[in-house]
Amino acid sequence: MTPRPRPHLILPLLFVFAFPSPASADEGQWPPEALATLGEARWGELSSRGLELTARDLWDGEGGGLLSAVVGLSGCTGALVSEEGLFLTNHHCAFSAIQLASTPEKNYLRDGFVARTRAEEVEARGGAGQVRVLSRLLDVTDRVRGPKSAFAKAKTDTARYDAVERAKKEIVAECEKTPDRRCAVAAFEDGRTFRLMEQVEFRDVRLVYAPPRGVGDFGGEEDNFRWPRHAGDFSILRVYVSPDGKPAPHSRENVPYRPKRWLKVAPKGVAEGDVVMIAGYPGRTQRYLTPSAVRNLEKWFYPLRSRTFSELIAILEAEGKKDPDTALRVASAVRSYGNGETNARGQIEGLARNGVAARAEVEAKELAEFLAARKDLPVEWAAAPAELERVLAADRAVQDRRFFLEEIERLGSYLGSALSSVRRAEERRKPDLEREAGYQDRDLDRARQREKDLTRSIAPSAAREALAHLVAKAQAAAGGSPVLAFDEAFGKGAAADAIAAKLAAMDAATALADEKVRLANVDATAAALAASDDPYVKLAVALHPDLAALRAARKETDGALLVWRPRYLSALEALRRSKGRAIYPDANSTLRVSFATVKGYSPREAVTFTPRTSLKGVLEKERGAEPFETPKKVLDAARAADFGPWADPLLGSVPVGFLTDGDTTGGNSGSPAMNGRGEVVGLNFDRVWENVAGDFGWSPERSRNVNVDLRYALWMMDRVDGAGALLKELLPER
Ligand code: ASP
Repeated sequence: MTPRPRPHLILPLLFVFAFPSPASADEGQWPPEALATLGEARWGELSSRGLELTARDLWDGEGGGLLSAVVGLSGCTGALVSEEGLFLTNHHCAFSAIQLASTPEKNYLRDGFVARTRAEEVEARGGAGQVRVLSRLLDVTDRVRGPKSAFAKAKTDTARYDAVERAKKEIVAECEKTPDRRCAVAAFEDGRTFRLMEQVEFRDVRLVYAPPRGVGDFGGEEDNFRWPRHAGDFSILRVYVSPDGKPAPHSRENVPYRPKRWLKVAPKGVAEGDVVMIAGYPGRTQRYLTPSAVRNLEKWFYPLRSRTFSELIAILEAEGKKDPDTALRVASAVRSYGNGETNARGQIEGLARNGVAARAEVEAKELAEFLAARKDLPVEWAAAPAELERVLAADRAVQDRRFFLEEIERLGSYLGSALSSVRRAEERRKPDLEREAGYQDRDLDRARQREKDLTRSIAPSAAREALAHLVAKAQAAAGGSPVLAFDEAFGKGAAADAIAAKLAAMDAATALADEKVRLANVDATAAALAASDDPYVKLAVALHPDLAALRAARKETDGALLVWRPRYLSALEALRRSKGRAIYPDANSTLRVSFATVKGYSPREAVTFTPRTSLKGVLEKERGAEPFETPKKVLDAARAADFGPWADPLLGSVPVGFLTDGDTTGGNSGSPAMNGRGEVVGLNFDRVWENVAGDFGWSPERSRNVNVDLRYALWMMDRVDGAGALLKELLPER
């Protein structure tokens, strides 16, 4: 479909890790090795603002430096902070671990959790159950898409996609020959360059301290992505290793991990105007989109996401009201749909307010004129804008159907479990290196863990209602071609109620409620699953071809994007440079550093926000009802002004939150906010409403991220929970 790329023209500008600083001082999410290339002027400016560290102090190129204390968790970040493996992250990042450890009788989510001895620390499951420490970064672009690569020789878009995936998997397999490594190859700049991240993965993580939900999630969805903010969004976990110091699965014999580097905790906190560094794993920004891509997000994706997630939340909450066990089981899903829904609304509002589509249109016009005038530039660059639009337009034809089917696959349900075993079994027919990412042998442990976690998180009635809703939506969205497997299972045009009734009968007949059966299915062959008479396995087998076709179409699109996006970016880069503006790589779930200042902002005319909050504001917001319901022990200590050494003299109370102008996004949750000496003063956990659409562009006026002040956590441990041993471990010099 796409003409074969001329390899020598793909990467004419390989200066990826030598970015001049963009115009706005605190813009940019810097990869560790880019720090050394920021230039003397930039480092001088940072030092005049109070930064006492050098690029080498942060990252020495060999897995050393302060940044090696910044750990990656699934979708989040954490910071090692003690010589015995304690790490800090957000409460919302440990949310599913807290939920999975809770029962209605021992409800750590509601009441909080304090391990007073090592023996009381409990296994963390879910996303916080594995943490990764970065040990090496390597440019592997040449192997993935250089002139001699299979990519360069491939003749179709699908073959290009497959070639890149194959190369990535080979590199990962070589990297993982070193024991305990978990490696990943990340595409930078939409696939113009590729980097290998070698990480050490730890699999025994334990929950040590979590505040009650009334502190950790104070304000709930009502306050999410908002300022002023008063949530104590922190939790503490510990990494364990085998007695000989190696990463190992959870076992009682394991001992606390002694990291090479950990960050010191600064008991004195921050003040307005201080310089702060935020280091973490930002997930995704999209700052170089074509106009139609922006419009599609604004008019189609985010509105559909907001609507669908609101509907799912209403369904899950209604089920949760029926009994406390269901309420606990659906808590994590409700929270994560809630976060996604609020974010989607913020994106819609922000994209419109900031005129992102209109700006993209102006730039597209400038680009067209620039390319027409600059005949010296490669012809592929000139073709890129139109080619890109063509590829994206074709992809949009299937996007409604894909949206709902992907949500169905993601839902924690028996059908979701069956679908993943059928897909795994199909993939297993191929040699390991040809299987899709996520379905190789290296992924088996995780697949098993997911089935175990499902036992603790599924609420069958809630899953059934949510699934019925999504199936009805998928059928309605499918236009002329509804999913046949659904028609067969539930009847043509069936309404959600009728689908739910059929699902209830399937729930009564399925064996998938039994964890052992689901675990056996992880290893089952395609033939065995095809012969199964379990109703969910049968439905999954019937659905598989539709899902496989969607994935095949996506691969073709992605293969074409691997050709055209880098060319588009190169053209855009040439344009921006001609105007003295730089571009830097979008976030891609790899380690980045953002430099920032503690500062407030003005959300609209005549309104100014100061950058810090304290316990005073917690008391002001307190309603005695969710989501503003602070536990009594916290209220008592706050009302008694029992602040100990943790009060901030300027605030006259214990500080709770602070704003900085960091360049952050989802995935930065739990990122340490460090002072000029590299000591932790807080944890990033959110952005302000006006900055939700910051994913599409940073701005000095509205780009503000929200951090919890670590003194709030220290105060909770000290004055509220009397967790003296923990405090001593965090502040050994105190
Ligand atoms: N609270 C956010 C998250 O969902 C962090 C952010 O978006 O800035 O990860």
